[in-house]
Amino acid sequence: MSRLFHLVILGIFGFIGVLLFLFGVGESYSGYLDDGPPGLVDGVGYYLVALFVFWILISNVRVARRHVRWVNDMRARDFAWFKATHPGSVTRDGVICPKCACPKIHVRGVMNRSYMRAHACTRCGETLYYSREA
Ligand SMILES: [Zn+2]
Repeated sequence: MSRLFHLVILGIFGFIGVLLFLFGVGESYSGYLDDGPPGLVDGVGYYLVALFVFWILISNVRVARRHVRWVNDMRARDFAWFKATHPGSVTRDGVICPKCACPKIHVRGVMNRSYMRAHACTRCGETLYYSREA
């Protein structure tokens, strides 16, 4: 939870910073066109800035939604899911690979801000299930 809080705070401050920077860009660009007759063209800098901000917002939302879906898919494939899907692969001596029956399962971090670990077969590379980082 504290990681999420950190990201949200960073995002808010980063967004404010970008807005201030772009406001400066828009103002200087609009001022540049002040020589001409006042009218629609006066606000073109702000219009471009608004377009740019909108584009950044939309692409950020799309990336965030894809990331959430990716992490949720991994969270759904946890050990309970694996046990229910492959009951024969969870033995008294531990977990074996459902594809090649290899008992050696390695754990690696998925990284990329997923805070998940993948449990994968060392022989065939099949990912069996995922667990959350502590
Ligand atoms: Zn295997």
